[in-house]
Amino acid sequence: MTDGFDDHTTAKAGEKMHTSDKSGIIDSMSDDVSQPKSPEAEVVGEPGLALARSQAKLAEMAGQHGDSPQSGRRVVFGLEDVSVSYSGTVAIRDVAFDIHENLATAFIGPSGCGKTTLLRSMNRMNDLIPGAEVAGKITYHGQDLFASGVDAVEVRRRIGMVFQRPNPFPKSIYDNVAFGLRIHGMKDDLKDRVEKALRNAALWDEVKDRLKDSALSLSGGQQQRLCIARALAIEPDVILMDEPASALDPVATLAIEDLVGSLKSDYTIVIVTHNMQQAARVADMTAFFSVDSDEAGNRSGVLVESGPTSDLFIRPSDPRTEAYVTGRFG
Ligand code: ADP
Repeated sequence: MTDGFDDHTTAKAGEKMHTSDKSGIIDSMSDDVSQPKSPEAEVVGEPGLALARSQAKLAEMAGQHGDSPQSGRRVVFGLEDVSVSYSGTVAIRDVAFDIHENLATAFIGPSGCGKTTLLRSMNRMNDLIPGAEVAGKITYHGQDLFASGVDAVEVRRRIGMVFQRPNPFPKSIYDNVAFGLRIHGMKDDLKDRVEKALRNAALWDEVKDRLKDSALSLSGGQQQRLCIARALAIEPDVILMDEPASALDPVATLAIEDLVGSLKSDYTIVIVTHNMQQAARVADMTAFFSVDSDEAGNRSGVLVESGPTSDLFIRPSDPRTEAYVTGRFG
């Protein structure tokens, strides 16, 4: 290992009303912020009874994470004036906040505000995109992620990533999970490691009798949990998830959300989602991004506010956050 991460080698270290929802019970999977308002909302007027009910539900979900879940926890990522550009065009600028250990942190905000771009910077995936450039500083357990001598491959082992669409390799279920272990030379106890990863991804019981079957024979939700198992197998510290459930059906989505809830006792999770209800359900901390123009009129993503999920959803400090979480913008 060539980097300075030795002390962490093994460390686990607007919402919209669903139109059919007359009772105020939100369709848990409705994530389309462009949904038209319910007839009640139209009649009662802004914010409207239905919207107010769905807001109350959202606030209740957000409130379950507590007022200051981050207190006393170590900082895993420190972002200082981070800007990311593609071939000179700034996609997101001047981002500064901390991400804490063993919590789930959600990135929310309208499409194009740079959530994925920022996420990809946090394990140096942007290194692989021609023209992508990160300015400012991102620290990981206090170490500058972009300092010379930091091994990007090792960074990506410690900081795993799960993508929007499940992307299993056209190999057996077993070989998918064993793949990273073999590449990283973690070949001792291979069978046990594969089983452990599949158990941690809540998939073992469904696949233990068909480990030699093709991963492509699994359902979409199972494939996504397999990709999570593949990421977990190489013993990361952090899992970055880029809209991991957006391509899945409601049941599979809930399974992924449950999994996030159980994984955070051992891992730090960062999850990009365009689904505010999902953020309210799973995230202890939330960062809200939006698109803004700089003095020269160039538009790029900015961090509007970050903090405990309950703060953002119940008592946002910025009117843009309030407009977004109440569904008036986005
Ligand atoms: P979000 O995840 O919030 O939808 P993205 O990070 O995907 O936002 O995109 C932010 C901005 O960066 C957009 O203007 C997008 O077009 C641009 N962008 C994203 N990926 C690339 C890329 N590989 N090359 C050039 N521009 C990109």
